[in-house]
Amino acid sequence: MLKGKSAIITGGVRGIGRAIAEEFCKNGADVVIGFRSNQEAAEKAARELEAYGTRVLVVQGDVADPAYGEKLAATAKEAFGKVDILVNNAGITRDMLMMKMSPEDFKTVIDTNLNGTFYCTKAVTPLMIKQRSGTIINLSSVVGVKGNPGQVNYAASKAGIIGLTLSAAKELGRRNITVNAIAPGFIDTEMTEVLTEEQKKRMLEAVSLGRLGKPEDIAKTAVFLASEGGAYITGQVLSVDGGISL
Ligand code: NDP
Repeated sequence: MLKGKSAIITGGVRGIGRAIAEEFCKNGADVVIGFRSNQEAAEKAARELEAYGTRVLVVQGDVADPAYGEKLAATAKEAFGKVDILVNNAGITRDMLMMKMSPEDFKTVIDTNLNGTFYCTKAVTPLMIKQRSGTIINLSSVVGVKGNPGQVNYAASKAGIIGLTLSAAKELGRRNITVNAIAPGFIDTEMTEVLTEEQKKRMLEAVSLGRLGKPEDIAKTAVFLASEGGAYITGQVLSVDGGISL
């Protein structure tokens, strides 16, 4: 479904980003995957993904650094000649009740989740405009739509991503560039591993489908949005959450 496409996925070595990279490669895309910390894990992931027969590059950096978005875009352009798809997936949490949350924890989460999305989007946009096509997929969250105690920083960053998505979709639609957000619910990754059993039980009770989401659930939605099926979808926030937001 993505044969011959070139994609950038931030935070693509583990969790949801890794599943997206895997589904993209399975469907024929060449990918640049971003990572921040573990070079060895990134290289191992690249070798595993290459087994699907497409080209895989890894680029280290911090999405909160505006220059990193440029580096990702330049790497994909140089290696694959174009950038068809950007998935802004890299994200962090620093949970704490608001009264105890430090300004630094608020700022770090915004810098990474929201500003990182802006920097990478801004970096690929000139290339996509020149190509007269492109797909941008931003990872928001059910928390950005509904809020959550202990997550004012994370919720603000994910709600900000929705505003960015809607505005960018309006700016770029005439250039044949779609911009959408996926709002996952409770997905089984290292990000949610830190929750207590009690917290997990309570969240699971609110999931209509009665199970945690898998990274693949999000990855398959990203493939859909990036493939022909998603060609006329822009400025949307797709809840992929098993019904937790109902
Ligand atoms: P993980 O914690 O499992 O993975 C996060 C990824 O982001 C890692 O690959 C990490 O790279 C990368 N990353 C974090 N900070 C930076 C940074 N400053 N620069 C570059 N890369 C960075 O998270 P998930 O896979 O669970 O989440 C992926 C996305 O989905 C996030 O945006 C998250 O907010 C969103 N989401 C997740 C939900 C869930 O239930 N899991 C629910 C709703 C949304 P490295 O390993 O190198 O640090």
